Amino acid sequence: MARSKSLRGLGAKYGGTLRKRYSNVHRTLKAKKECPSCSNMRLRRVSAGIWKCASCGYTVAGGAYDVSTKAQR
Ligand SMILES: [Zn+2]
Repeated sequence: MARSKSLRGLGAKYGGTLRKRYSNVHRTLKAKKECPSCSNMRLRRVSAGIWKCASCGYTVAGGAYDVSTKAQR
């Protein structure tokens, strides 16, 4: 049962390909994001595509799982 920690919550369900994709998204979600306004690393996802800075309150539209939609592999 050697399973990567980012796969937690899915267990053995949904098959390997989807779990791999999920862990990728999950890692991106947990990563710190830089605020474009005050350059604090406190940008958080409010909902899909909406990102808000916890420091200055700046709200940005971005990708569903990452602020930047560029460089998606
Ligand atoms: Zn900010």
